[in-house]
Amino acid sequence: MAEMLVLIDHTDGHPRKVSTQMLTAAKRLADAAGDTVAAVWLGEGAADVADTLGAFGAAKIYHWDSADAQGYVTLPQVEALQAALEVSGADTLLFASSNHVKDVAARLAIRADAGVITDVTDLEVVDGALSATKEVFGGDVITKCKVAEGKLAMFGVGANAFVAEESGGGSPEMVALEVSLSESATATKVTSVEKQASADRPDIGEAAIVVSGGRGLGEEAGFKLIEELADVLGAGVGASRAATDAGWYPHRYQIGQTGRTISPTLYLGSGISGAIQHRAGMQTSQNVVAINKDAEAPIFQIADFGVVGDLYQVVPKLVEELKARKG
Ligand SMILES: Cc1cc2nc3c(=O)[nH]c(=O)nc-3n(C[C@H](O)[C@H](O)[C@H](O)COP(=O)(O)OP(=O)(O)OC[C@H]3O[C@@H](n4cnc5c(N)ncnc54)[C@H](O)[C@@H]3O)c2cc1C
Repeated sequence: MAEMLVLIDHTDGHPRKVSTQMLTAAKRLADAAGDTVAAVWLGEGAADVADTLGAFGAAKIYHWDSADAQGYVTLPQVEALQAALEVSGADTLLFASSNHVKDVAARLAIRADAGVITDVTDLEVVDGALSATKEVFGGDVITKCKVAEGKLAMFGVGANAFVAEESGGGSPEMVALEVSLSESATATKVTSVEKQASADRPDIGEAAIVVSGGRGLGEEAGFKLIEELADVLGAGVGASRAATDAGWYPHRYQIGQTGRTISPTLYLGSGISGAIQHRAGMQTSQNVVAINKDAEAPIFQIADFGVVGDLYQVVPKLVEELKARKG
């Protein structure tokens, strides 16, 4: 029986949503193949999350309880993952397709003779091997691809590609990894971490709902309206590049080719034309709602629901209606 490894992406001691989503997918695929799922936890606090990871399908947890996992840049995580691969003998690894983890994955792939597929939106077994779905060319082409060479297949899974579901597993077996870091792994130390001040809203990379605003808002103050709508929906706030370049909203909230890639259940864009570079970051959203006063705006080509109208009339009414329904 083989093991499928899932690298748990976590922050402040809590698995990110994408991690429980990956475990759910891995459990489904491993069950079908008669394999098992093992989580890899790098950093302190594995014991505190063991039951949670077990509930989502991990039969085992390889953990490296060391502050070094986050104390240096990239390489300690690569070397700890190498240790997990050696102990487990796994030939498949799922990881979160975020910028940081992709950096770890790329370096691991060279060392472990692996093939890597990133930004995966679905996984299935085809002819006995894992086949990944991913979009390319800004989402114009959807590909199905397999890792054809190497000893290890690595899949970087996008946020919200799968729905996280508990499978009622028991307490996973805990296996401590023995990691002796190389000199180069500790060459670049993290000396301080400064959290960006952010409102009490979900991160757009993981949020189920993202409300975003563009140049059509006309001015920075327009984002107050977008935030109001976001707060009534419990959503994250995103922006087009035109809006972030204008300084109306911070760049870290930019959605698109040169910004964040999001895949929420619901994306609601106001005053955004839907340029291809913006769509590249949001078109895997499950439902797209667009509010734009131009009926010819390209965003309507991919919208499930569209409102042709002035956002300054439509959005306040939407907020009012949602508040009334919430009571
Ligand atoms: C290499 C490259 C990378 C890029 N990367 C990104 C990226 O990552 N993300 C990104 O977003 N863009 C990116 N862009 C820019 C992109 O091409 C567009 O310029 C940008 O997305 C436009 O932003 P927008 O939709 O807010 O503005 P516009 O295209 O100007 O659209 C504004 C829309 O608002 C509507 N509108 C105006 N007033 C109202 C109103 N009162 N009510 C309702 N609707 C109204 C208009 O009809 C219009 O459709 C990139 C461009 C390049 C060349």
